[in-house]
Amino acid sequence: MLYFSRMQVRFYLGVGEPDAITSTWVHESIHARQPFGSDHEYSTWTGYEEGMTEGLTHRLLISQGVTQVDVSFPFYVTAYEEIARMLGIDVVTLWRGLWRHQSGSVRASFISIVNLTLIQSRRDILTMRQRERLQLATDTLFSTHHRNDRPDRRAIADLLKRVVQ
Ligand SMILES: [Zn+2]
Repeated sequence: MLYFSRMQVRFYLGVGEPDAITSTWVHESIHARQPFGSDHEYSTWTGYEEGMTEGLTHRLLISQGVTQVDVSFPFYVTAYEEIARMLGIDVVTLWRGLWRHQSGSVRASFISIVNLTLIQSRRDILTMRQRERLQLATDTLFSTHHRNDRPDRRAIADLLKRVVQ
């Protein structure tokens, strides 16, 4: 069940941003795709879940002609975009694969979904060493510490390139 705070709805309508309500609705519905799993992953590496959720929300809204909505968790969304770019895969395909897993187990399935997406894209899967290094890099990028950070796309891309060779 999704509850909207009446105050928040009034606020968004008052400032002329009704699309922000739709955005919140979609975002929270994606979180609620399955019963919530363990809280440990979310509290430590919140970016795996929030980056995927907000990335899908934003792409969905754009596909419906809604283009004026701010992206929440922009650091995590950018990190996903740069991971996909580095691997030569489509970020939405990656998010759709991760979406099948409940909140709290996205990190646990991340590497296998990356490999599945690579196979679907007719690319080589990651070696064991690359898997370990990618997970180290993404644990850093998706750490809860970054939840309010503004992204530096170049720095994120450099980190990924340095770590995952
Ligand atoms: Zn969220």
